[in-house]
Amino acid sequence: MFHQFSRRVWYMDHDEASDRPVLGYVRGDRRCLMIDAGNSRRHAEEFLTQLERSRLPRPGLVALTHSHWDHCYGLHALDAVSISCTATLRDLERDAALSWSSDDLRRYGAEGIVPQFCEEHMRVEYPQLEEITVALPEITFEGTLQLDLGGCCAVLRQLVNPHAPDGVVVHLPEERTLFVGDAAYQELVGNDWVDHRDRLELFLRELEQMDFTHCFIGHGMPMPRSELFAWFGERLDEQPPSHI
Ligand SMILES: [Zn+2]
Repeated sequence: MFHQFSRRVWYMDHDEASDRPVLGYVRGDRRCLMIDAGNSRRHAEEFLTQLERSRLPRPGLVALTHSHWDHCYGLHALDAVSISCTATLRDLERDAALSWSSDDLRRYGAEGIVPQFCEEHMRVEYPQLEEITVALPEITFEGTLQLDLGGCCAVLRQLVNPHAPDGVVVHLPEERTLFVGDAAYQELVGNDWVDHRDRLELFLRELEQMDFTHCFIGHGMPMPRSELFAWFGERLDEQPPSHI
């Protein structure tokens, strides 16, 4: 389902079966920004179809929140200028050099290159794994990049977070909205979800400085700021600091 969230923000729901993440859309007066590119051509094209139905222009820009397949492998189906942090580009260059078939994926699973969780979902999304095409972002940055979309800005910030080294959040100050991709989640290490108290604390500290009322997480419903911080607080309580 595709929803309008505020005057300038829309989003398409996540889908657990194939691990499709939330895709975001910001309508500026001059430029429209898509947030994450989807996990396949089909996913990206479904998003474009929803835009058409809602009489919204196609995005001229697409920002990647991190390099994981479910957020990036739809990029080749989009005719938009793509933006990521440099670390995301490096990861995708590695993925683009891989060959993809059922046997390849089984081998990547066995060798730990692709976690089992991802392998299962990739097989759902791609009946023909050979269809996987990894496109590379065209513009890269380190630290912070501000995009003036006309009437509103999108501020991309690479932040230390518990999920991935290349996590970027997209802050829309005028909309008081924040897209965090998967940065709020634990890290998938092998086949286990591992939390990192130190990185979660740093992430929380940065987010506390940012003005937003609602947050979009990669595989869930949008949540109010208070709910996000309460969730972080619970996880920090569960993991006492190691030096005590
Ligand atoms: Zn991820």
